[in-house]
Amino acid sequence: MALVRDKLFIGGRWITPTGRSLIDVIDPSDASVYARIPEGAPADAEAAIAAAREAFDAWSRTTPTERADYIERIAAGIERRSDELANAIAHEVGMPLRMAARIQVGGPLGSWNHYAGLARAFVWEAREGNSLVVREPIGVVGAITPWNFPLNQITLKVAPALAAGCTVVLKPSEVAPINAFILAEIIEAAGLPAGVFNLVTGYGPVVGEVLARDPRVDMVSFTGSTRAGRRVAELAAATVKKVALELGGKSAAVILDDADLAAAVRGTVSSCLLNSGQTCSAHTRMLVPRAKLAEAAELAAAAASSYKVGPALAEGSRLGPLVSAAQRDRVVGYIRCGVEEGARLVAGGPGAAPAGDGFFVAPTVLVVDDPKATVAQEEIFGPVLVILPHDGDEDAIAIANDSIYGLAGSVWAGSDEHALAAARRIRSGQVDVNGAPWNPLAPFGGYRQSGLGRENGVYGLEEFLEVKAIQLRTG
Ligand code: NAD
Repeated sequence: MALVRDKLFIGGRWITPTGRSLIDVIDPSDASVYARIPEGAPADAEAAIAAAREAFDAWSRTTPTERADYIERIAAGIERRSDELANAIAHEVGMPLRMAARIQVGGPLGSWNHYAGLARAFVWEAREGNSLVVREPIGVVGAITPWNFPLNQITLKVAPALAAGCTVVLKPSEVAPINAFILAEIIEAAGLPAGVFNLVTGYGPVVGEVLARDPRVDMVSFTGSTRAGRRVAELAAATVKKVALELGGKSAAVILDDADLAAAVRGTVSSCLLNSGQTCSAHTRMLVPRAKLAEAAELAAAAASSYKVGPALAEGSRLGPLVSAAQRDRVVGYIRCGVEEGARLVAGGPGAAPAGDGFFVAPTVLVVDDPKATVAQEEIFGPVLVILPHDGDEDAIAIANDSIYGLAGSVWAGSDEHALAAARRIRSGQVDVNGAPWNPLAPFGGYRQSGLGRENGVYGLEEFLEVKAIQLRTG
């Protein structure tokens, strides 16, 4: 029996939407209908914006400590309901359950706690000559989020926006929305004043575009595809609202000649395949010294083939399905296109997925000669690693930077100094040196068409703040 959520959270109450249709949420592990959610209409988005506008004055005047207390209560609620959240995300995204619990719920829980602490510790005002410089909330925030790390992407907007003193209308992905309903219940139980947080579900071109367009929204914070992000920015321009965009990627793992090849390949395959390759910052292009191409391909093929593909709730699955049939077909299309353009398939392939109704694609490795090939340039968003040869440091850096994207990447070399010198020259928002660990507080965001602005940590809070200078008389 599918779970049914037929109300939206607006102005502190669960309201029957004006649009009466429901959207099916499909479980990608077996193609069954996991849940149904409201297909919100523009009027629902407008009601939520009105509620957020009305709540803004009082909420923006609360003290950072008061806001930190609310945020801590929300974090405690997430902790209490973490099993339920992980289960929902395993069903709607398809990430294996244990991994979903750690990454998709544990990560966001840490971020909520972090923003509570940051609200208390942040320096909200400072003197600059005869000016008092104060940091104030930007206003009503429209938050539009995707399906791949759904609770994390919601958290990185809603938690800092609330800490800043903003009110929020959230439009989560219609593909993986149940975690957002659970979060709304947690926020309600935490006693947040009515209208400070509102949830409207529905399709992007319908409710999402209302948030981007409406003059009562001061900022729209969007994570998703570059195509939809461009549309959001276009609509927001009419009212000159602030736009934050976290978009696509085609990040390079640059392996230099003196690197430990086996460790570098293992690390890159693991980054590429996380969440079945549906990770915007995945290292999906692996650049290796030309003389080591065959060895690297063999290592990558062995590493990729060792991942057990299976349903998210089956014991032992390491790679789940892709999120939808459309996404699976798109990824298979890219693999076919790669082979047609001359790539050599060394693992996986279009027909290598396990049987069953789920939207599975086997981990796939392609060796490509031409850095301009379609599969070396476009974001595939699936478990597909592209290996490209390079002719030394200069060439590798040039290939890494030859992309419309610039979100993440890595450099592997014989010493951290050698790797760091190359990392400084890579034009992207993050670069990992020699397998260094993920830092949840590090600023995250893109150069070029990977986006505008940064999320995480203190940079993520500052995105939601205006700066005001109040001049004081001297003497
Ligand atoms: P998507 O762009 O289709 O959808 C993202 C969100 O935008 C959804 O809520 C959707 O309903 C909404 N939307 C769609 N069209 C819209 C429109 N015209 N106006 C307003 N809202 C609209 O993306 P997706 O398929 O959900 O996610 C995959 C994409 O997200 C990939 O390209 C990936 O790289 C990117 N992504 C980026 C980051 C990052 O932090 N840079 C993180 C995760 C995913």
